[in-house]
Amino acid sequence: MRIVLLGAPGSGKGTQAKLLVDKYKIPQMSTGDLLRAEVAAGTDLGKRAKAAMDSGQLVTDEVVLGMIQARLAKPDAKSGFILDGFPRNIPQAQSLDAMLARLGQPLQLALLVDVDTDVLMKRLTGRRSCGSCGAIYNIYFSAPKTANKCDKCSGALQHRSDDNEQTVANRLKVYQQQTAPLVNYYKAQGKLRTVRGVGAVSAIFKNVTDIIESQIRPLADVMGKIESAAARQAAKAKAAAVAKAAAAKAAAKVAKASPAAKAKALLATKTKPAVKKAIPKKAAAKKPAPKAKPKKARKPVAKAKKAK
Ligand SMILES: [Zn+2]
Repeated sequence: MRIVLLGAPGSGKGTQAKLLVDKYKIPQMSTGDLLRAEVAAGTDLGKRAKAAMDSGQLVTDEVVLGMIQARLAKPDAKSGFILDGFPRNIPQAQSLDAMLARLGQPLQLALLVDVDTDVLMKRLTGRRSCGSCGAIYNIYFSAPKTANKCDKCSGALQHRSDDNEQTVANRLKVYQQQTAPLVNYYKAQGKLRTVRGVGAVSAIFKNVTDIIESQIRPLADVMGKIESAAARQAAKAKAAAVAKAAAAKAAAKVAKASPAAKAKALLATKTKPAVKKAIPKKAAAKKPAPKAKPKKARKPVAKAKKAK
């Protein structure tokens, strides 16, 4: 199954991606991981990516697509992949579609994990973590019993600087401007499905797998059936065509033949039954002879029985 996951920062799509990897045994491809792997391996793409990052530039779409294509060629991606974090905008989605079309592996599903913006704001700005034990809280959804104090170790809770309201609002705005239009892009292709990203993680995942089972699995089944039915139909049509051609050839032969040859052919067909009739007569005459055989055969059996 070939899936793109869509969702705003804080939508929880990363969590769903990991659950999908475990359930369906297909790799999750996040561009960040791919970048790190290529740079670490020192590949040509990795070197180009590193040069861009070192000079403070964005890694080009061409490099990212190259990394995705290289990743798709690995054996574990044979039965599919989950793309998370790419594409982020329409041009990237178009380039991705073109590349996957060349590979004959088009996307089957774009899954949007949908969460209202005010909930996203609370999820992202409400995060607090314990400076001592690392426990994570959210002042709106899973607040500590005492404000700013860890339930487990009484350590002081910290608020990351990039979780402040202004930064979070900016990230969500960028998402709305660039990535949200992808929803319509995939909707137009008939590939978009939406799952509400609110509630228990397991309940959301159940909805995700329900969508996958109903959208991708039956489609794969139907496509398989259509293909085998088409193959049977083609074989049938070919056989019929061959038979028709043979019949036409035979008819043409008779039509072309001279009256004398026609008469000869007619005679040949007339004499054939006479020959056939003669054969049964001979066979019938021979029949009485084998009749004696079973009697002979029975005797040794009876003797063998008596001997016992
Ligand atoms: Zn703690």
